[in-house]
Amino acid sequence: MKFYDAHNHLQDGRFAGRQSELLAVCEKVGVVQMVVNGTCESDWPQVLQLARENKMVLPSFGYHPWYLHERTPDWLANLEKFLDAAPSAVGEIGIDRWKPGLDFVGQEEVFLAQLQIAAERNLPVSIHCLQAWGRLLELLQQNPRPARGFVLHSFGGPAEMIPALAKFGAYFSFPGYFLHERKLRQREIFKQVPLDYLLLETDAPDQHLPEDKNCFPLVSTAGKPLNHPANLVAVYSGLAEFLGEKMEPLAARVEENFRRIFGGI
Ligand SMILES: [Zn+2]
Repeated sequence: MKFYDAHNHLQDGRFAGRQSELLAVCEKVGVVQMVVNGTCESDWPQVLQLARENKMVLPSFGYHPWYLHERTPDWLANLEKFLDAAPSAVGEIGIDRWKPGLDFVGQEEVFLAQLQIAAERNLPVSIHCLQAWGRLLELLQQNPRPARGFVLHSFGGPAEMIPALAKFGAYFSFPGYFLHERKLRQREIFKQVPLDYLLLETDAPDQHLPEDKNCFPLVSTAGKPLNHPANLVAVYSGLAEFLGEKMEPLAARVEENFRRIFGGI
């Protein structure tokens, strides 16, 4: 079986240079490709480097709403430079009204500038949205979008919005974190996602799986638990079981979806 991780952050400093080791484990369990999302200008070079060294890595460049305060005056030109070097995906970008203390001012402007670039280049884009679903739908309605579609990473929006979002080209990505008992409500929402628009992700090193599903325990040098990207297989099996689907046909559907939006190898 082949597994595709629609969203992770393999470049994250908490992995402390262990990326090759992690990729070797991923390859062993059947992970074929992963979208590695940059979050700010300072991590884009690592994302590009990982992609140059590993064919499993599909690089994605974008400014995450949590790090907007770090952007330089040249950030947009810098983004275009990375997309010229590796024109594969834009992200992680988004809007966030959930994170305490995070300024909402400027978020939409930066999000829309990046969405515009993705639309012009027709690149897939990974979107982070927390507690701003109504506004996101409005922005998508009023602005150019990439014709090939976009990914709503860790989709936590309401079920009623799925048809409208799908109409604009949304793919809905399921994280292992939703396998926790306390996330049953979000997990139930995935029963409404059309199977042709379903993707799965680890969001590694974040979004831990429940302990009994964590097949690859990993800790940072500071002793904090990290989500291993090879846990992707457990995300697939957890969702398959929950949806009452067999793992193999589900993986084949997701493979088609991943290749449709990301191209892929
Ligand atoms: Zn992320």
